[in-house]
Amino acid sequence: YEAKESGGRVVVYESGKSPYTHERLRLEAELREAAERHAFEFYYQPFLRLADGRVDEAEALLRWRNRGEVVSAAGFIPLAEETGLIAQIDQAAFSLALWQLVRWQQQGLPYGLSINISAQSAARTGALTELNHLVQHGGLEPYRLTLEITESALLRDPEEVRAALLELKALGVRLAMDDFGSGYASLAYLRQLPLDRIKIDRSFITHLGSSRRDEKLVRAAIDLGHSLEAEVLAEGVETLEQLQWLRENGCDLVQGNLIGLPAPLEAWYPSPVALGRLHLALTPRKPSAL
Ligand code: C2E
Ligand code: MG
Ligand code: MG
Ligand code: MG
Repeated sequence: YEAKESGGRVVVYESGKSPYTHERLRLEAELREAAERHAFEFYYQPFLRLADGRVDEAEALLRWRNRGEVVSAAGFIPLAEETGLIAQIDQAAFSLALWQLVRWQQQGLPYGLSINISAQSAARTGALTELNHLVQHGGLEPYRLTLEITESALLRDPEEVRAALLELKALGVRLAMDDFGSGYASLAYLRQLPLDRIKIDRSFITHLGSSRRDEKLVRAAIDLGHSLEAEVLAEGVETLEQLQWLRENGCDLVQGNLIGLPAPLEAWYPSPVALGRLHLALTPRKPSAL
């Protein structure tokens, strides 16, 4: 998949593998320098709303342009976490996302962005406080921003993280649980968090249509999300069969290579045209929608 996206050799680092090789040390040095130079950009991956075919939100996924290659987040975020560089990188990503959102806002475009925060940064609540500050002082309509957190972000100091998330939520920022089902969040904890969305992990979506067991689990996850009064998004949708199944089973939003690969903004821009085409391709035509 990643090779398809960037057209190049991609996996540069696998966590836990030969930790002290020359290759790792070189990458670490390069990543450190990139973090200082803010040498990162976002690729954007759209969310499709199944009820009406609307596409007005995307996930901002960090990319690192290194030695002429575009490195996916999966290829450097683990290293960034192990080296502590993630704090700086998350800060840079926040600024980038807010800058883009304010731009859309000024252009009168109705788009939103969903951004990721590493479990490590979330647990260091300073990062959430800084995000709070950026939102309050950046002139942003806060509902345009969704913050994706993972279940593991809640493990270390749940009360403190929860308090910081509640403050963001009070501002109007939306909260999503990322990779839902792949971590350790308890029902008790989910109940205490005012989630706007849960994103069902791709590993559960892959076998829709062939695994009855996974289908039952995804149905249960959709019900659980709705019981929490959250929207439910399915990650990693790659086939029409999966899309159909999710539509029939009440999932609200889908994201994945079938709908759109993560791509630089230019690839979507002017967005209304590109997104409109997606709309027509994926939804039955309704006169009112045209
Ligand atoms: P995630 O938040 O779960 O993002 C989804 C990942 O799945 C992305 O990988 C995306 O490219 C990939 N993906 C999307 N659709 C499909 C599909 O249909 N099939 C397959 N096989 N893969 C698909 P990516 O961009 O490499 O990001 C990996 C992870 O890195 C993200 O997982 C997220 O946890 C983290 N990440 C990305 N951007 C940031 C960031 O700005 N800050 C932080 N802290 N973490 C980030
Ligand atoms: Mg995410
Ligand atoms: Mg995810
Ligand atoms: Mg994931």
